[in-house]
Amino acid sequence: MVANSCKKIVIVGGGIIGLSTAYAAICEGLQVTVVDRLSNFGDNCSRGNAGMIVPSHFIPLAAPGAFSNAIKWMMDPESPFHVKPRLSWDLMKWGMRFFLACTETQVGQAAPLLRDLSFASRDLYLQWSDSGIDCSLAKKGLLMLCKSETAMVEESEIAHRARDLGIPAQTLNASETSALDPNITMDIEGSIYYPKDCHLDPSQLLSSLKEKIISLGGKIQHDCLVTGWKTNGQKIIALETKQGEIEADEFVLCGGIWSEGLVKKLKLKLPLLPGKGYSLTLPNPIELPTVCSILCESKVAVTPIGSGLRFGGTMQLGELNQSIDPRRVYGILKSIPFYMPQFRVQHFEGIQPWCGLRPVSPDGLPYIGRTNAWKNLTIATGHAMMGISLGPITGELVNNVLHRRPTKINIERLSPDRYGI
Ligand SMILES: Cc1cc2nc3c(=O)[nH]c(=O)nc-3n(C[C@H](O)[C@H](O)[C@H](O)COP(=O)(O)OP(=O)(O)OC[C@H]3O[C@@H](n4cnc5c(N)ncnc54)[C@H](O)[C@@H]3O)c2cc1C
Repeated sequence: MVANSCKKIVIVGGGIIGLSTAYAAICEGLQVTVVDRLSNFGDNCSRGNAGMIVPSHFIPLAAPGAFSNAIKWMMDPESPFHVKPRLSWDLMKWGMRFFLACTETQVGQAAPLLRDLSFASRDLYLQWSDSGIDCSLAKKGLLMLCKSETAMVEESEIAHRARDLGIPAQTLNASETSALDPNITMDIEGSIYYPKDCHLDPSQLLSSLKEKIISLGGKIQHDCLVTGWKTNGQKIIALETKQGEIEADEFVLCGGIWSEGLVKKLKLKLPLLPGKGYSLTLPNPIELPTVCSILCESKVAVTPIGSGLRFGGTMQLGELNQSIDPRRVYGILKSIPFYMPQFRVQHFEGIQPWCGLRPVSPDGLPYIGRTNAWKNLTIATGHAMMGISLGPITGELVNNVLHRRPTKINIERLSPDRYGI
């Protein structure tokens, strides 16, 4: 038996989930190596996203109404949600599981869990800031901006539910919203303000975490594509990579959307679909809000990042490539002036859209935990729209799993084996 203090852990993937896991493990004296196929972690999903920490997002993607909205939006090339229709057994199975998960019962069970995970993660971000992980964390809350009365009614109902769960939420009219963030001109019906939400600079976060891990003795291997696993019985002995084999006592898979392909080589099922999204960052915006927001009807996230302003959105399910669809990008851009009338689509001329692939599970919940099929494999992925939000708590939970300690939040529902092994 290897003593924990010298146990060797290899983590596949250097996105927010892999780096959070590495940091948590290294703080407990484990010997950590992170491998990633990208140079300097280049452009994974964790870099160009909207950087929001969102206790307000306690309703998972799979919720009543989500399936019918998906069908409705499929025909609109500029809509915020799209599934590329294709003949694929995996896609059909994923769709069926998503459909089955879109129930009030599942939301009722998932919501308190997501609340607990989000608040625990938020607390950890505050601790990280105190220990020198710099990510420009802003504890300013989040505004759900509603253009229409209908959206206001829907969002007010969600706010009511949030308060029932102990998540503070305030319903504001248009002038109360303006008073909260006078830096930005808004043309809206009103908003819901979630004071506990935060925002940060995701790129700075990744760089700062990486530096911290290295300074604490962790090893990071870039340009290291994992191609397979060397096994013996029910144990993994080594990772097979383009740079050779890497042995370890424990393996943690944090490979984002590519995790499903990697576990297939271990004969495991991990249903995931890529959820492609885009962001565009104005370096010198005409106005700079201080509070991050979501344009409710168009599902666009708006985040101040330093002196720049990032707009992100769209969920194109099922495309495992990073090609940019200009119609979807235009869908994001054209919605902005409706809410923020000082902005014009022309302001974005010459701005290169960034594209990221969210790892999306059918029930909208991440996979966190060990699989029964392999003695020394832990999986942490499938965070969809909440990878930044839930990164630190995921790292802490995985670390408890690695030490075979009880977790402070029950993660049975998040088992990577929940769709069978
Ligand atoms: C437009 C947009 C906005 C978003 N906004 C937010 C937000 O405001 N708040 C929030 O919480 N979340 C947000 N998200 C979601 C968030 O970005 C993701 O949930 C998160 O980045 C997923 O992190 P990850 O570490 O699982 O995956 P990734 O960041 O994709 O990292 C996976 C890593 O694994 C590596 N890898 C994969 N396969 C291999 C292999 N075979 N060998 C070696 N390395 C490999 C990859 O190179 C990659 O670096 C947003 C996403 C998008 C697209």
